[in-house]
Amino acid sequence: MAYLNENYLKLPGNYLFSEVARRVAAYREEHPEAEIIRLGIGDVTLPLPAASIAAMHAAVDEMAKKETFRGYGPEQGYDFLIDAIIGKNYTSLGLKISRDEVFVSDGSKSDCGNIQEIFSADASIAITDPVYPVYLDTNVMAGRTGALDKDGRFAGVAYLPSTEENGFAPALPDRPVDMIYLCCPNNPTGTTLSRTELAKWVDYARANDAVILFDAAYAAYITEPDIPRSIYEIEGAREVAIEFRSFSKTAGFTGTRCGYTVVPQSVTAKAKDGSRHPLNALWARRHSTKFNGTAYIIQRGAAAIYTDEGQKQVAENIAYYMENARIIREGLSSLGLSVFGGVNAPYIWLKTPNAMPSWDFFDKLLREANVVGTPGAGFGPSGEGYFRLTAFGAREDTEKAIARIREKLAL
Ligand SMILES: *Cc1c(COP(=O)(O)O)cnc(C)c1O
Repeated sequence: MAYLNENYLKLPGNYLFSEVARRVAAYREEHPEAEIIRLGIGDVTLPLPAASIAAMHAAVDEMAKKETFRGYGPEQGYDFLIDAIIGKNYTSLGLKISRDEVFVSDGSKSDCGNIQEIFSADASIAITDPVYPVYLDTNVMAGRTGALDKDGRFAGVAYLPSTEENGFAPALPDRPVDMIYLCCPNNPTGTTLSRTELAKWVDYARANDAVILFDAAYAAYITEPDIPRSIYEIEGAREVAIEFRSFSKTAGFTGTRCGYTVVPQSVTAKAKDGSRHPLNALWARRHSTKFNGTAYIIQRGAAAIYTDEGQKQVAENIAYYMENARIIREGLSSLGLSVFGGVNAPYIWLKTPNAMPSWDFFDKLLREANVVGTPGAGFGPSGEGYFRLTAFGAREDTEKAIARIREKLAL
């Protein structure tokens, strides 16, 4: 009898974006003339940097000739890409990362989701709340979370509320945890953790033999000088942290697919017999067994963002999104709304007026201003009372949306 993995049955349906789509479709039906602007999407809209396009065209031509054709590549990624990653993202910060510590992949959603496989099935997890859903859902599937409570929380998970009250810097968990997911700059709140806050987590992990799973998908959006770009800027993190990075938001690779994970040789965990082992070896085994390498053509496109022209093009695209973020942030705060994020991340997290439930605010914004965003409650219980807008839209739409909110939204 092929019984199913019952952990999957504990997962609530993918309610958030389907419910958003359902409500927008219903509104359209009633008001076919309405010109709806979507500031809910978590996807880039600008095309790939020209440097990546040129590199990928050249790589396609290499594949067309017997002399330069490539079959299976190294599972961990080609050295030309790994060396560029290390040089521009780590050596430049004075951080020493070696080739065998970098694992190139098809994006960091898979890596953030798969990493839990190298930990014990009974390891306990902590997640910030609100949160990118992948960390939680993959641990539900693996059976680490217990069942869903009536209040929307899994009984076996340490939720770390991140709200205006604590400045979006969650307190340490009130129970021992083994795996800690941190996302900085954060999706959905758009906020960051300071050096001091990150050091608090690194110290906790060192004292409690825990591992930090650090998602830095938005590192390229950081504009303030003292926000760490990498967890390894924090003293002691090399022994307790794994870092995830992606070309998706950095360089528009959401549909092209490339990311990487850094697992320093010095990050270790214990077996039940008390022996200690580097996690790098486990992840290398997992990666090479279940993954067969990112396409050569894509790796060439990714490496091209580290050339001088590639860096310039990436910076221009990010600046475009961050100007949208400024327009949203300043536009909404001038209306007296409390807004967070949007300075080091392409997300603006606003507090709903008069503590309105986030789905009610969704409906109000849709009806009064014809603008679509994402209700905070969809990202976790502590997201209730908040709302996410993204800076990934076109400039014209972003400006129009803010003008409409100013004119039409009854606050
Ligand atoms: C977009 C995003 C990623 C990157 O996902 P890819 O699979 O690389 O496209 C990772 N983490 C967070 C929090 C994100 O928002």
